[in-house]
Amino acid sequence: MMMQQDQNISIDIRDLKPSEITKYLEDLGEPSFRGKQIYNWLWKHGVSSFEEMTNLPLALRNKLEEDFEILNMSPDLVQKSSDGTVKFRYVLKDGHKIESVLIPVPSENRFTVCVSSQVGCSLACSFCATGQMKRKRNLSATEIFEQVFKVNEFCLGEYGRGLTNIVYMGMGEPLLTYSNVKRSIELISAEEGLSMSSRRITISTAGIAKMIRKLADDGLKCKLALSLHASLNDKRSQIMPINDNDSIEDLMEALKYYYEITKNRLTFEYILFDNFNDNEEDADALAALCQSFPVTVNILEYNPVSGVSLIKSNENRFEKFIKMMADRRVNVTVRRSRGKDIDAACGQLANKE
Ligand code: SF4
Repeated sequence: MMMQQDQNISIDIRDLKPSEITKYLEDLGEPSFRGKQIYNWLWKHGVSSFEEMTNLPLALRNKLEEDFEILNMSPDLVQKSSDGTVKFRYVLKDGHKIESVLIPVPSENRFTVCVSSQVGCSLACSFCATGQMKRKRNLSATEIFEQVFKVNEFCLGEYGRGLTNIVYMGMGEPLLTYSNVKRSIELISAEEGLSMSSRRITISTAGIAKMIRKLADDGLKCKLALSLHASLNDKRSQIMPINDNDSIEDLMEALKYYYEITKNRLTFEYILFDNFNDNEEDADALAALCQSFPVTVNILEYNPVSGVSLIKSNENRFEKFIKMMADRRVNVTVRRSRGKDIDAACGQLANKE
């Protein structure tokens, strides 16, 4: 396959499948092992030029230079919160901006990156800053991978160790850009890539039932979290319009299917909003949903987003809800907000300066 391309349009070599790189090399009469060498340079070492591919013959490096480019996606803004959380902003080739967030917990040896999968989001959850931006486009697999690669490098430099966990919970709905998300996970976990176990990767979805089934059918070995945030349909639809298409019942059926096939423990994300979803009837309904399969409820503190009237549960109601969960024997983890002062907390990503 010789690359046919417009003089002015260059192709990022990382957008090619391995089979396409192999074919390209075959057409040039190059031995097949060159494909693996190139793949290693691109995904394991993250080089930004062909010049750095020092084990390739000079003529091949020059030819690659002629035919392709390697897009360098470096953060143009890095903000550090007083609690150690770090937010990275990237300007993409078309000028759009996206963000990812590093949440370091050195005392527990846990370093988590939260990555974006779309520019903006079409699902318009009422409590979320990204939802207010509307969806501009999906991110490519490379653009998702690059966020992980760059934050991993930062982590190595700052803490002397790499990332331990990756969550697809930044800007956008990952299951609406499924093939790119899937490819990025393959690259992150590949031996020639970052060699990170896909078991350390969590996809967090607002709930697209059909895609949850597909995830199960495709056998992707990552974890799955559902952003539930309300356990009664009328309340959930008020804050998450997607619930009108994919009701809680539809999602439970899809998650049961997912669990039957993968046997992966699931997570419900549940932000507590004051006097909205933190009552006894909410606790009862949530506990009932937890009977369907093994699940952990991750209770989150809400972070203010401008223009949103919902506020976080007061301390008393927050603690009371956690107790109600314990009384109902629900497995709960509690996540207090991180990175509020730099708008890096859950639901706050919206490219503000
Ligand atoms: S919470 Fe997630 S799905 Fe909802 S609007 Fe925000 S980014 Fe989109």
